[in-house]
Amino acid sequence: MSDNLQKPMKWWGWGAEGEAPNFENKPHLWPYITRHLQLKEKPQRKAPPPDLETVTLPPAKQNEKFSAAMARCGLQVFAGKEHRLAHAGGKSFRDLWHARKGKIPCAPDAVLYPQNAEEAAAAVAEAQECDIAIIPFGGGSNIAGCLTPADARGRMVVAADTTKINRLLSLNEKSQIAQMQAGALGGVLEAQLNARGWTFGHFPDSFLHSTLGGWIATRSAGMQSDEYGCIENLTAGATLQTPGGVWNIKHFPRSAAAMNMKELVLGSEGALGIITEAVIKIRPLPARKLFFGYLFSEFASGLEAVRECLQTGAKPLISRLSDHNRTALSFSFREASGGGAIKKAMAAIAKTYIAKSGGIDFSKCCLMIVAFEGSEKECAKKHSAARRIFRKYGGVFAGAGPGESFARGKFDFPHIRDYLWDYGIYADVSETATEWENAENLRLRALAALEESFRARNLRGWCGCHLSHSYRDGASLYFSFAFLRDENGGNLAHYFAIKRAVQDAFAKNGGTLSHHHSVGTDHAPWLENELSPFGIAAMDAIKKSIDPRAIMNPGKLRPLSWERWRADIPLAEE
Ligand SMILES: Cc1cc2nc3c(=O)[nH]c(=O)nc-3n(C[C@H](O)[C@H](O)[C@H](O)COP(=O)(O)OP(=O)(O)OC[C@H]3O[C@@H](n4cnc5c(N)ncnc54)[C@H](O)[C@@H]3O)c2cc1C
Repeated sequence: MSDNLQKPMKWWGWGAEGEAPNFENKPHLWPYITRHLQLKEKPQRKAPPPDLETVTLPPAKQNEKFSAAMARCGLQVFAGKEHRLAHAGGKSFRDLWHARKGKIPCAPDAVLYPQNAEEAAAAVAEAQECDIAIIPFGGGSNIAGCLTPADARGRMVVAADTTKINRLLSLNEKSQIAQMQAGALGGVLEAQLNARGWTFGHFPDSFLHSTLGGWIATRSAGMQSDEYGCIENLTAGATLQTPGGVWNIKHFPRSAAAMNMKELVLGSEGALGIITEAVIKIRPLPARKLFFGYLFSEFASGLEAVRECLQTGAKPLISRLSDHNRTALSFSFREASGGGAIKKAMAAIAKTYIAKSGGIDFSKCCLMIVAFEGSEKECAKKHSAARRIFRKYGGVFAGAGPGESFARGKFDFPHIRDYLWDYGIYADVSETATEWENAENLRLRALAALEESFRARNLRGWCGCHLSHSYRDGASLYFSFAFLRDENGGNLAHYFAIKRAVQDAFAKNGGTLSHHHSVGTDHAPWLENELSPFGIAAMDAIKKSIDPRAIMNPGKLRPLSWERWRADIPLAEE
């Protein structure tokens, strides 16, 4: 397996150390940003990545008994700065804020790297014995504050990095299932399956830096979910190392054996145990994957097209529909067009043709990226079925260009947040899901809430929305937003106000608090509203029965008051 696939992420941003796409070669990006944020010119690059030497962490607690027990199991306890820093959080706005400031308010006191299920089990058992909190750590890619290493009881906190538990254990071609260790990062998992001609087909945008265990623990959704399903559809069984011992959730194609225990593990956010293995559903590698673009005049007509595709079975592998603003941002990512005068003239002719024949206004259209997989013939058949529906709703074929550029850059886009931060522009996302009936209403209300929060704080902001996961009954809506740094300060408070406004808009207008980013600490204030006090009590009882001393990722899956949420170290109410 290539070491490249196993590289840890930088502690202050996205991607492996030294790896970032070149955003400076996109001649349309800054003109778009400066226009939208009413800037006279591209700002100076202000915030270079922080220096490891100057970053401060709280002092580490120690526990001799725990270290001795780990040594007996052959597990080293790492308490060095680099290890603690790399596991001090995920990639939520708050996590990045602290990392960029170089002042980390809470970090694990130590880090373990178990190599197999037995070592993970020993770590959990000894943590319970020594009354130490333990946090399962996958790729560290979560964006909701799931890894905040704070314990309200003030106990020592240890992060258990699972990424060395990453092997394919067995593959059954007849049943199309594989037994996979859960610390495998996306690339590591796919490489092992692809080598035998198979795929899992789960590709979140964070694919390269997230793990199977993390996907299960956060109820993840990948970009091919319309065809393959989300992680709950792809996970068939799981093994957890819990404080009470090993919990093996068996795999059957279906079962009527009372309540479904697999559902408890999905979305458990490390609060029940360390997932060390999963039985996953796999498919043969497709012969090919083809990407295309379509343009719609309005988001609402694109929505209708996707809905009809989903409800009639004519669904593409991917349907990613962006609204006007999100489309304009995507267009601004195109590189300087090479190829000389003839190529440029051909592109201009194609653009004029699309504008005239399809009635598309390029300054405010909605781009839909679609993909199909299978043999050439299968792709053509699926494309033709979807195209009929797109045309019915005014969709105009924009060729393979936009689709291919999406396919090439799909894992580069997450780097944009770090790049903009360097120039004093703060960006983040919030996402939800709702029924088709309510989708356009919710989109408009959430965007209005974002715009209003910029206005109320006198901020120069930008927001946009795209749809990326669809079902027969509804779809997810993904909101991106950004604002120009307020030089008078108060930027973290600005961020909280904006985040609260959009999440409140979801809660008030029929949207879930998250379609696939989970709860963590960032969405915890909305949890009780969504699950009801009854649901919270049931979840508490399950947690207590599996983890009576609350050592597993303490404070998660708990409601949070606004005061705690806004505090530097959010600690859930006990
Ligand atoms: C730029 C960006 C793009 C993203 N795109 C997507 C996307 O397209 N789709 C999507 O679903 N999400 C996306 N995410 C969110 C994130 O990648 C997912 O939440 C992912 O599933 C987290 O996996 P991880 O391995 O990084 O988990 P971590 O971040 O390490 O942990 C997340 C939570 O899972 C728990 N956990 C991790 N591993 C285990 C384990 N083995 N056993 C028990 N608990 C465990 C942790 O304790 C924690 O509570 C994105 C995030 C970013 C920053």
